[in-house]
Amino acid sequence: MNFVENIDHSTKIVGIIGHPIKQSFSPKLHNSTFNKLGLNYIYLPFDVPPSNLKETLKAMGLLRIRGLNVTIPHKERIIQFMDHVSEEASTVGAVNTVVNEGNQFFGYNTDVNGIVESLNPYKKEIAKNTATVIGAGGAARAVLYALIRNFKVSKINIINRTEERLDTIKAYFDEKMHFDNISVYELMPKENLEIYQSSNIIINTTSLGMAPNVDDTPTDLPKSFNSSQIVFDLVYNPLKTKFLELAENQGATIIDGLKMFAVQGAKSFELWTGTSIDAEETYNELKKYIISDQK
Ligand code: NAP
Repeated sequence: MNFVENIDHSTKIVGIIGHPIKQSFSPKLHNSTFNKLGLNYIYLPFDVPPSNLKETLKAMGLLRIRGLNVTIPHKERIIQFMDHVSEEASTVGAVNTVVNEGNQFFGYNTDVNGIVESLNPYKKEIAKNTATVIGAGGAARAVLYALIRNFKVSKINIINRTEERLDTIKAYFDEKMHFDNISVYELMPKENLEIYQSSNIIINTTSLGMAPNVDDTPTDLPKSFNSSQIVFDLVYNPLKTKFLELAENQGATIIDGLKMFAVQGAKSFELWTGTSIDAEETYNELKKYIISDQK
């Protein structure tokens, strides 16, 4: 029987809120997993403009919606409506997963889990070394948290298009995590070549290179990368962005954003249902969606 035919009064609702709510692979992924495991849940996308965020959370309580994923532009502002916030989410300053426990809202940041799992195989190469992070948004903050807390980097460079955001993020991590070895730079590739070259790990947290704008990249300078570097792109569609292609051609070790996406999704799933799922299976399932999306 199709799982939609099983929907009844006891079906638990989870979903994603964002604005605009772009084409997301999360409904496909979670609904197919509920179906496979025979769990009476359904995952729906909700387009919520910023002015409706507070009312949406009220409705979440009234309709007994079990949980939500939270995406752009609500990740930061939603914190004020939570009854409890995990240590990660509180330090990062962003929530990407909400769990409704008897009308008490618990906020988590499972992006951090995804980042840590993606970088763990390279822990030795990253620890006590220099990292360069491109971007200064919500995902960059989760990356900074993981680099400082889990990987103990010694220095962080942040490169971003909008200058004002750089001072804010630098001051934020100095205050929240007492990490003051952060230098900030504007997104001007030629002047930044030295910064790329002196980094052991380089992470793109901007949306540059994401489909359909696959020719965009934070740097296209020859010699930005070398064979001793780890280069991680949070973008997962396409799997190999132009940024990663350049890095790989220059000998660097590359990591795509799909593992992060799979791990954060699996962790959210576990928080809502209490059932753990294999992040590797989730990765393979997502890879199929991306490949068929590119056809
Ligand atoms: P966000 O808070 O809106 O931040 C976006 C960042 O990208 C900002 O630093 C912004 O710079 C920069 N940016 C956007 N368009 C740009 C352009 N055309 N040129 C230069 N810089 C540009 O978004 P976010 O939540 O951090 O997400 C950022 C990216 O990470 C997205 O692509 C998202 O899909 C990806 N992500 C992936 C995962 C995963 O699981 N793999 C999880 C979370 C996020 P300004 O400050 O100048 O605007």
